Amino acid sequence: MEASAGTSPQNPDRVGFSWSVSRHDCFESCRRRYFYSYYAANEDPEIHRLKKLSALPLWAGNVVHETIETFLKERGVAPSDAEAEAVVKAAVHGQMLADWRDSESGSLRFRLFEHEYQTPVEAEDKKIVVGIVMRSLRNFFRSPTLAAALAAGRDRWLTIEDLVSFEVDGVAVFLRMDLAYRDPDGRVVIVDWKTGRGEGRFNEIQMAGYALYAARQGWVASPEEIRTELAYLAVPRYVRRDVDAKRLDQAQAFIAKSAGRMKALLLDPLANVARLEDFPMIDRPRVCQRCNFRGLCFPRARAEVLPGAPPEGAQRPAVTMTREVGS
Ligand code: SF4
Repeated sequence: MEASAGTSPQNPDRVGFSWSVSRHDCFESCRRRYFYSYYAANEDPEIHRLKKLSALPLWAGNVVHETIETFLKERGVAPSDAEAEAVVKAAVHGQMLADWRDSESGSLRFRLFEHEYQTPVEAEDKKIVVGIVMRSLRNFFRSPTLAAALAAGRDRWLTIEDLVSFEVDGVAVFLRMDLAYRDPDGRVVIVDWKTGRGEGRFNEIQMAGYALYAARQGWVASPEEIRTELAYLAVPRYVRRDVDAKRLDQAQAFIAKSAGRMKALLLDPLANVARLEDFPMIDRPRVCQRCNFRGLCFPRARAEVLPGAPPEGAQRPAVTMTREVGS
């Protein structure tokens, strides 16, 4: 394998080191995937294109997120049943159909992992994805979460999907809160929409990171005035948690440790320069089979099932919604 500097000292557009939950998730899943995603993708358009591939479950999550974001930003008042249904139908028959057609035609705007790697998409798979989007959006409109945010009033909404950052031990931490608002009791409620059914591996740290940002922004006088809510829309299920100073301290320590481990693999931590050979591949065919960079790591098995991986269809991934945040 040839050595290659992802973010070279010669590159004037070098991206500084930053931390996000999705970056941590990527680092933990495979070092090589991390190198491709956060270093090589900044320099190589083809690797950047592969990074942006969207697998079916991720696609469902993004459609739900974008639809909710647009609704909240443009409306912010309770819709009638007919209006809500029109939003759901537009997401499926408008956005999803346009995405699918673009992906099939090899568009740069939107490309599904399944089309890139010629993975058969059965009618049943499409039905599942469309079902998740419709169920999640319908449940969103009926949710106690939306009702509470609307009851609080738009002038008490603090953020909707804004990309923000703060520092932990000199490292920029990027995050994007789905929704935060101040309730009538003065507490700050931070909401994260999920289309998966179960707890993601890093949900807790993600929510604690949001709370840390809220505290740093001075939105509250004490962490106890923050409440986090994971809204599993496809189920539906709503998991609310209170926050305290200990949880914020733990989040801060977690971020600092994770960032330290990432930096330890850099050729030049100050300049944020990485080398491919310092970021090994993993030996987990099941994971590689579903990886956006499979064609780089296994060019000869590009459109095939990798040795050791189960056949397609036998390994439909659980629907999770992890979005890239920051760089
Ligand atoms: S294909 Fe496998 S080894 Fe290569 S980047 Fe992806 S997960 Fe890592």
